[in-house]
Amino acid sequence: MKQVIEGVAFDDLTLDEAVRAGEALVRSDGFHYAVTPNPEFILLSRKDGEFLRLLNGADLTLPDGIGVVYAAKILGRPLKGRVPGIDFASGLMAALERSGGARVYLLGAKPGVAEDAMAALSARYPGLTFCGCRDGYFQDAAAAAEEVRAAAPDLLFVCLGAPKQEKWMAAYGPSTGARLAIGLGGALDVFAGRVERAPERWQKLGLEWLYRLKQEPGRIGRMARLPLFLVGAAGRRLTGKG
Ligand code: UDP
Repeated sequence: MKQVIEGVAFDDLTLDEAVRAGEALVRSDGFHYAVTPNPEFILLSRKDGEFLRLLNGADLTLPDGIGVVYAAKILGRPLKGRVPGIDFASGLMAALERSGGARVYLLGAKPGVAEDAMAALSARYPGLTFCGCRDGYFQDAAAAAEEVRAAAPDLLFVCLGAPKQEKWMAAYGPSTGARLAIGLGGALDVFAGRVERAPERWQKLGLEWLYRLKQEPGRIGRMARLPLFLVGAAGRRLTGKG
């Protein structure tokens, strides 16, 4: 079931349910794509109608940020919980490994990062075939899609940041031959060990964003808008316009 939070229709799933849904998409015919919006995506979608349409046209829309879960609660439409894109991707790789394997392509991040991520993931999931990777700073988007197609992946991680990754997936995803593409932001930096994720205790407290801010203080400008996002949701609830 979908829950509309601030204009974006989210799938209300636990992490396990999301993994099962993702696995079914990888095992079915045709192209599908998944998105992992956080409050920054929602703020961006208000100014970019095409981006909003792409978020709502996805086969799976998972609440990556705790801010989305808080907004859902404030609006009286609570979600089962947060489904971080990186946990979804990890769970999906483990599930695919258990059920016969899959070919996986990693697209995005700075030169060298996808290669390191591929080495780390190959060691962690020996039952999967990591069939190729390339950095996300290409000039020719169609040529990048052709490189992906030549590697014949089942599953494709697209890590270009929002909204670039969603626009690339919608425009070029079908031509890659992959069954499922997932927009995963900075996930390759984490898989490659370049960026450290918050310890589990911080994650459980819903403070992963704070840990990230501690690591990358330059994000303060982007993050400063997020409390206003929640104030906006509260205002809409109180005035009945949610
Ligand atoms: N990136 C990219 N190509 C671009 C711009 C960004 O591959 O043209 C990568 C960047 O190196 C990083 C990821 O996209 O690995 C975006 O990370 P960010 O932390 O901004 O995304 P978020 O997880 O916040 O959506």
